[in-house]
Amino acid sequence: MDCLFCKIASGAIPAKKVFEDDQAIAFRDINPQAPVHILVVPKKHVGSLAEMGGTQDDKALLGHLLALAAQIARSENLSQGYRTVVNTGPDGGQTVDHLHLHLLGGRAMHWPPG
Ligand code: 5GP
Ligand code: ZN
Repeated sequence: MDCLFCKIASGAIPAKKVFEDDQAIAFRDINPQAPVHILVVPKKHVGSLAEMGGTQDDKALLGHLLALAAQIARSENLSQGYRTVVNTGPDGGQTVDHLHLHLLGGRAMHWPPG
């Protein structure tokens, strides 16, 4: 499949990996928007959050990705807090069509987002 994050997950394209297990990989964003900007990505290809249904597998995977973000935030010493974002579809600003969770930290975030 011609998918950037599938290629990163398989190792075909290099990335600055911070974590990996059987279900997910986390690596530093190539164009960081904060001092810490990490993408948490399922190894399985899922186009976006909009494709996630109500199956137990989907729920377990989503829970796993969010729990990993919290674990990585601790290992990155984001004790002042952080932002987790899942951009979905054109209006959500999604540019890579493989589900991913952004973990942003190391500076104060603004609200509302643009
Ligand atoms: P989206 O806009 O889909 O929510 O987020 C996609 C993210 O992937 C962007 O923040 C972008 O900087 C990042 N990105 C795009 N291509 C690459 C790449 O080749 N390597 C890494 N590490 N990040 C990438
Ligand atoms: Zn993919």
